[in-house]
Amino acid sequence: MNEAARSQADSARRSVYEAYRDQLRFLRERLDAAWQGRAVELEKAAGDGAVSNLPAAIKATGAEAVLLLDASGATRFPVLGAVPKSDPLLGRSDWQQAQEQELQGGRPAAAAAYERIANSERAPSQAARAARAAIRCLTMTGHKEEALAAIEKYFVAGRSAQGADLDGRLIAADEQLLALHLMKHSDARFEAAARRLAGLLNHYEGDAILSAQRVFLAGELERLAPEMPQSPYVAGERVALSFLEAESARPGSAAVEASGVPGLWKLTSPNRRAIALYRTESVAAVSGRLLTGENVSRNAQFGIAPPGARSPGEAIPAGPALPGWQVWVSISETRAAPAHVAAYIWVGYLVIGGVVLAGIVLGQSFRRQSRLARMKTDLVATVSHELKTPLASMRLLVDALIEDEHVSPETAREYLAMIAGENLRLTRLIENFLTFSRIERNRQRFEFAETRPAEVVESAVQSLRERLETPGCCLEVDVPPDLPLLQADRDALITVLRNLLDNAWKYTRGEKRLAVRVYPSGEKVVFAVKDNGIGIDAREQKRIFRQFYQVDRRLARESGGCGLGLSIVDFIVRAHGGEVTVESAPGAGSTFSVWLPRGGAADEARG
Ligand code: ADP
Repeated sequence: MNEAARSQADSARRSVYEAYRDQLRFLRERLDAAWQGRAVELEKAAGDGAVSNLPAAIKATGAEAVLLLDASGATRFPVLGAVPKSDPLLGRSDWQQAQEQELQGGRPAAAAAYERIANSERAPSQAARAARAAIRCLTMTGHKEEALAAIEKYFVAGRSAQGADLDGRLIAADEQLLALHLMKHSDARFEAAARRLAGLLNHYEGDAILSAQRVFLAGELERLAPEMPQSPYVAGERVALSFLEAESARPGSAAVEASGVPGLWKLTSPNRRAIALYRTESVAAVSGRLLTGENVSRNAQFGIAPPGARSPGEAIPAGPALPGWQVWVSISETRAAPAHVAAYIWVGYLVIGGVVLAGIVLGQSFRRQSRLARMKTDLVATVSHELKTPLASMRLLVDALIEDEHVSPETAREYLAMIAGENLRLTRLIENFLTFSRIERNRQRFEFAETRPAEVVESAVQSLRERLETPGCCLEVDVPPDLPLLQADRDALITVLRNLLDNAWKYTRGEKRLAVRVYPSGEKVVFAVKDNGIGIDAREQKRIFRQFYQVDRRLARESGGCGLGLSIVDFIVRAHGGEVTVESAPGAGSTFSVWLPRGGAADEARG
């Protein structure tokens, strides 16, 4: 590729990234709106902060955990312990007596005294505490069955089943756990007790059980009766408690902010009465669902990265709802492209595979000839590089067209012209590789027939049309009508002329003035291809016909050559009993002339 073509490809590449950047910006807006929307949803679902709104709030936000606050900013969920009240049992003489009996070791008597209080007491909490004390005494004295009967009596239904201790813990729940400890798993009553405990733990309405108590008991229940269904909210409650330990439930803003617990993020409802908590992975997962919607490219992967983390691709700062986060795009070469593009690319890869294979086979034969030994590696490298370059350019251009929804017709035409140009270049390379491979294996055959020179020129020019019709290129064709016929392989001569014209185009910078002339000269017909390009030093003029020889490797690479074109020209022309000459000087352009005998002589060279 010369400079112009390269800069075209570069601008195509830039436009691909530009297209992705537009998409990134679009996704950022979408993400931002979505997270703000989530904060509003949180507010709606949290309502007045009643614990019973928890399931709805979790569902609306997809959060790990939700904290609910009341109008004064106090935490309603997780349910925290109340400030201990004064103990109404303290002044009671029967309570004191029972306690003394217990302390002095008279536990059976103490159990009976506690039970009397439990039976007579009207306040649920006092009754429950007395019943618990009675059960404790029974357990300590090994009266397991009596203890279980008392749990059944006082803590399945009735007044004391509602009672709480001075810290606000629901006594019935602790006693159900005790029942599980007293029974064997095989006990017929075990399942019912486990179910009762699970029922108490899954209760998120009204005066809910304290969160710390629930989290502890849920852990115990899971250990003792793993078959019991766990509440879906306990894990979140645990997270919410750890958040509260790290900082008091300080509301933030309607944005995904650091929470005080590493790896945990908080999103506050606009009215500051609910806080949703997310782990980093959940923020990424929730965002990921938005980022893989229908408007998103299939060739690129999008994602978000938390503050301070490295993005795997091009990144821009996320919107105000994700402060410090980044939205990134990573362009993946292997992701599925639309079917026709994928097919196109696969064909390309197959061709590369085939030619690389051919290159390897050829390389093996080179080894036998020490002069060509180094060419094996050269060939493989050149083949893969030269074939990949036009494929990659085509892919970029096709991607740019697919991704950019608002592409103007002019740009589309320009890109298509560039794709056609790259396609042509690829075709030329493959043709040359194949011809070279045939020559090397002595498999190149020529079909000689009467051939009109004008036909050869027409076909060669026609096949390079896309290239020769680019702006800044002017081709003059001078083929007189009365030229003699040639005894030649028409297709091979077209290859000769195409390679010469292709070189004339490649090695001419700026304004290209090219000319093809065919004229008779004695017993010969001459095809002359002239350019106003960079020219060739006299010392190089013989070497350029060698296989893989390039005067300026870097320039030739940029132009998309691999050093085979002229060696093929030379081979074909010799096979026709002719010769190629070059007239050139650095900076003064070049004229390559192919001298072919009129008819006949070709027969001797048939190979
Ligand atoms: P390539 O495909 O690399 O151009 P060729 O066999 O076609 O290989 O040519 C060999 C070398 O000869 C080129 O690399 C280039 O340096 C030189 N060359 C060929 N044609 C021209 C030209 N018209 N003007 C200047 N240099 C040329």
